[in-house]
Order: sequence, then structure tokens, then C-alpha cells
Amino acid sequence: MRVHPGFWAIAALISLQVSPDPLLVLGFAAAVFASILIHEMGHALAFRKCGIRSHVVLYHFGGLAVPDSISSYVGYGKEYSSGSKIFVTAMGPGVQMVSAILLIVLLRGVGKTDGFVTAVVGVPANWTADPIGVLENIDQVNGSLLPYYSIEEFPQRNQKALQVADTNQDGLFTLEELVDYESSINAAGQFDQPFWEKVQKLSKENEYVPREMLEHFTGKAAAALQLADRGAGKLILWSDVKELHMESVQIRNEFLRMFTRGFVQIGLFWGLLNLLPVYPLDGGQITRELFVLSGASDAIVKSLKLSIACGVIAGLAGLRFQMMFVGIMFFMLAYSSYQTLQRMQGRYF
Ligand SMILES: [Zn+2]
Repeated sequence: MRVHPGFWAIAALISLQVSPDPLLVLGFAAAVFASILIHEMGHALAFRKCGIRSHVVLYHFGGLAVPDSISSYVGYGKEYSSGSKIFVTAMGPGVQMVSAILLIVLLRGVGKTDGFVTAVVGVPANWTADPIGVLENIDQVNGSLLPYYSIEEFPQRNQKALQVADTNQDGLFTLEELVDYESSINAAGQFDQPFWEKVQKLSKENEYVPREMLEHFTGKAAAALQLADRGAGKLILWSDVKELHMESVQIRNEFLRMFTRGFVQIGLFWGLLNLLPVYPLDGGQITRELFVLSGASDAIVKSLKLSIACGVIAGLAGLRFQMMFVGIMFFMLAYSSYQTLQRMQGRYF
């Protein structure tokens, strides 16, 4: 195995965007290294399965599992069919993505978030049993989150009525308490409507889970609420619940936290990008072999045209989603496919 210096340059470049903290940059770069190494090991293992010896080189954008000699490559030419080529090519991103999924499963087993699938991509937490989904579950239970207002924030003329409405006498006032009060003495007329609407638009920060709601929750949601419970008489602030729950589901060690996030991110995101039908990515090679298998007359030309089209689309998508690095890379790959196509068709520019 060899690691080309260019690999570290690119790994550092990607990792530097993650954080200014050198420890976190190191954690992310280590994850890039581990994930890409596993990718190339996947290719190398598949080569071996086909009877071809190979070694792994990590360079610029990723790596290569290289057959040890052309003769061994050619020597097995007959057995090295399109099917075997697809197998060898798919094993790289396949093993890489499976390793990321295994890490996610492991993290779920110990009740931790991966910090990427939901936190960065926005996949609904419940789909992957991400423990940060507990917050959504609490949020979705009707009436579990109520805004509260301080009676002192209201004008003098309303305060007296509000004090009566404040059944638990905590100087705070909830919509629930107001509704109870209104239904008991039809006091709606005492409130100045535009003012009340203005109060309702107050900061959403002031949300809390009423103590009475505790009995409606079980399991992880109840545990998350109890974690933020400051004891008798005090409010369970929603901001406390969020903060303390996030703290409890994250990996405490910063380096490990960044490593796991990076490993999942590179494994899933780059693993998937690598399967796009663009040369010289694995997906480009697989597409060519699929064209060959389908019996298309000009399989290589067709795969190059597809590579150009998909490269441009992926480039535009990269820019659209503000991933400059990805966007520029795909435009370069599309252009390089275009040049190859021109050469193959005997036109030189
Ligand atoms: Zn590969």
C-alpha cells in the first residue's frame, strides 16, 4: 500500500472546512483516510476473489486498487468478464457504505447520534432511530409545549385578571391557564385583542413542558424530560430539554465525535457520489460494463456521453447546494470525458 502526498493535501483541504480546531480537523482527516482505505480494500478483496493480486494506492481524490502486473490482469482476461469487472468496481463503494452503516448501527446500540444523517442531511430522525428524534416526539404530542408569559409584561389594567387566571401562582401565564380562566368567567372582553396577539408573537424561546404532561411520556421521551427537570415547582424549559438531551446523545470525546461524523459522512456521501455514472468514478466504469453487457454497439461512446451529461448535472447540483468542491470536481470530470470522447471520435481541438 502506498499513500500519495496528494491524498493528504486533499484530505486536509476537505477537513479544514469542517472546523478551525486542529484536533477536529485531525479527527475528520483520519475518518477520510479510514473510509477511503476501506473502499480500496473492498476493490482489492474483490480482485483477489477473481484471482488477481493487487495493491492499494491512495492519491488525490481517493484511491486505486491496482493489479500488480499487467500480465496477471491480461492473463486472467478470459475470466475477467464484464460481470467480474462490475463486481470488483462495486465492491469499493459497497464495502465503504456498509462500513458507514455498521458504524451507525453501533452508535444506535449505545444510544448516540452520528451527527450527520439527521443533523446535516436532514433525514427524519425516526427513520434511522437517531436518538435526537426524541425531541421531535415530545414536540409532536399535542399540548406538550406551551409558550408562557410573565404577568409583569402585561399592562397594569390586565394584571389583576391574569393573577386570578394564574392558577399555580408562579407569576407566569400560559395559554392553557387563560383558556381555563375564560371558560370559567367569560372574561374575554377584558383583554385587548391586538395586544394579546402581539404577546403571542413573543419569542418562541419561552416554551416549556407543563409538569402535568410528564405522565403522558414514557421511555426515552420521559427520560429526556426528567433530565431537564429542575425540581418541584420550577418549569421544565424546552430549551433545557433540547440542550441536555443533545449533550447526552453526542459522543463526549471531541476527536471521536468528529471521527464518527466524518466516517459516516465520507462513507455515505462520497460512497454514493462515487456511484454516479461519471468517469473515472466507479459508477462510470460500472455503467460502461452495463452497456457492454446489454450488447450496445458503441458501449464506450454511450457511457462517455452519459458521463458528460451526469457530470454537468452533478456539477450544477454541487453549486446549487453550495458544495463548491464537489461542483468544480464534477465539471472537471465532465470536461475530461468530453475530451476523451473527442479523441475517440478522431476530432482534435
Ligand atoms: Zn473505487
